[in-house]
Amino acid sequence: MDLGLKGRRALVCAASKGLGRACATALAREGVAVTITARTAATLEETAAAIRAETGAEVTVVAGDITTEAGRAAALAACPEPDILVNNAGGPPPGDFREWDREAWIRAVDANMITPILLAKAVIDPMIARRFGRIVNITSASVKSPIPTLGLSNGARAGLTGFMGGLARQAARHNVTINNLLPGPFRTDRLRTTMAAAAQAAGRTIEEEIAERSKTSVAGRVGEPDEFGRACAFLCAASSGFIVGQNLLLDGGAFNSTMG
Ligand code: NAP
Repeated sequence: MDLGLKGRRALVCAASKGLGRACATALAREGVAVTITARTAATLEETAAAIRAETGAEVTVVAGDITTEAGRAAALAACPEPDILVNNAGGPPPGDFREWDREAWIRAVDANMITPILLAKAVIDPMIARRFGRIVNITSASVKSPIPTLGLSNGARAGLTGFMGGLARQAARHNVTINNLLPGPFRTDRLRTTMAAAAQAAGRTIEEEIAERSKTSVAGRVGEPDEFGRACAFLCAASSGFIVGQNLLLDGGAFNSTMG
């Protein structure tokens, strides 16, 4: 299936590993020139080389923290007028809400709400002028089904979702779409980190812990990043202009409801 994206440019944030990398790779396979960011330059270069080798696409790297003003400025300087923006950053730490002071909340809101909003603000008017734009925000299944220990994520990402829902309705008539992808458990470093403590407590390796938990899940497994990347590319397709303001849950059926 040709997604009609050849020659487009994408800025994919936090994309040296995991879900961001998978999105960048899936877009590059469609002939999109991708600019990828992450804080660690070495991993970013390795990932860029791997994407170039697999897809032949143009890949530009920008090392920096996307949650800072300087990091965003550097990313936008390298890719000032993307046709596609994939918003992503590391998730906030787990914990007990009694331990989170104002600073902890500001960090979470900065990373998982304000950063994607400011990036969307920076790129959306040129998208509107060109009458093509796709903004995909990587959020979390926790927006729909809160995870008590991830309160910082539940809160900050729900705020982002509310704002983006309104912006999506302002942009749609210009063929600029905004949608959110809500990952459940995907096999990435983030998942391995969040499983580490439970694995250690149970005397299991992290892979054993993932396998153990998968037994009781609806799909019987965790998601693979490539599945996530392909869903992102689909939302960015030229023919996806009528998919507006959606929250697409990719959780293998974990959220139990009759619909939506
Ligand atoms: P991951 O495998 O740990 O990868 C995170 C990527 O983001 C890395 O490339 C990392 O590189 C980069 N990054 C992190 N913080 C950054 C920052 N401040 N500025 C620029 N780049 C940054 O994580 P993931 O599993 O792909 O998760 C992506 C997002 O989805 C996170 O927000 C996570 O909370 C959310 N999520 C994931 C899952 C899951 O099961 N995987 C489930 C629900 C939600 P550097 O460290 O070098 O910067």
